[in-house]
Amino acid sequence: MAFLKSHRLPPTPQNYTLAYIALHDRGSPIALAIKAITDEGFRIKQDEVDTIFERHGGLAIFGLQERANISLATQLRHQTLKISELTSSAADATGAFARELSEEADAFSGDNANALSIMTKMVEHSLQAQSRLTAAVQEVKSLREELEAARNDAHRDELTGLANRRAIDALLVELADKGEARVIGLCDIDNFKSVNDRYGHSVGDRVIKLVAKTLEETCAPHFVGRWGGEEFIVIMRSRDFKGGAKLLDKARFELAEKEFKLRETDEPMGLLSFSGGVALATGGREANAATLKAADEALYRAKSSGRNCVICTEEF
Ligand code: GH3
Ligand code: MG
Ligand code: MG
Repeated sequence: MAFLKSHRLPPTPQNYTLAYIALHDRGSPIALAIKAITDEGFRIKQDEVDTIFERHGGLAIFGLQERANISLATQLRHQTLKISELTSSAADATGAFARELSEEADAFSGDNANALSIMTKMVEHSLQAQSRLTAAVQEVKSLREELEAARNDAHRDELTGLANRRAIDALLVELADKGEARVIGLCDIDNFKSVNDRYGHSVGDRVIKLVAKTLEETCAPHFVGRWGGEEFIVIMRSRDFKGGAKLLDKARFELAEKEFKLRETDEPMGLLSFSGGVALATGGREANAATLKAADEALYRAKSSGRNCVICTEEF
């Protein structure tokens, strides 16, 4: 503290750490760098301290490097989520605009050829804009997947700790090759976008974790993985797809029981739910794709019939 005081440096953790090293580990590169400045009786300034801190490992000095990276990665992930949400809603809006224009153009009596040709051009332009935006959405999506892949260890999803896509694919292939029947359940959180919109992506992340935990606990010992953003997969080594649907229903009830509170205000968030689609695979590898498609279609039907329900479908 005397060192900090004599150099008129504020007693921040960073300054304290450097002062500690300067005084207790005099042969270290950090101590020598500080000595080189202070030797002639000069005061060391804050920007010089900052430079030494960064040059010699920054937060790693505290053993915090990993945490710093994670929070940067989380920020980056949230940033790409925001871009993808913005681009996809821009694409939707542009598409809707093009449709409205074409309807207007169809209804146009044609007594003003000039206006009609302007409209036709506008429709063309909007359609081009829409396809460019759709391509951008795709690009952001693959960027996000790359980012996830870089963050993930071989088989675990970073955010939830569940099995990741690679582990899911590996298990499906393994079961298909062994000729074991498997029930596949896909779950997608209901109206999740509005959680992100209302409370931000960090709260969204906590909701994803809660749903992951609920599914894992309720469906154990069956396999649960994170299929994508706010979508999960449950794989059961069984032929009983109705039983599979019942199990997902149980997880839905468990989730509804949980009261999710916002940390800052303690305000309850209201009902959390997901919809599910279940299908049975009995064939080889090709049955996996067909079954996933069937489960996804069942999930879509669950969404269109009001959400917060599970629908099961036939065998492949
Ligand atoms: P629906 O009931 O029809 O499923 O409506 P929804 O609002 O849940 O719509 P959708 O399933 O399309 O929403 C997915 C959203 O999830 C969009 C995307 O920004 C968000 N998302 C995807 N991955 C993450 C993530 O890791 N964290 C957060 N916070 N949001 C994510
Ligand atoms: Mg979804
Ligand atoms: Mg959803």
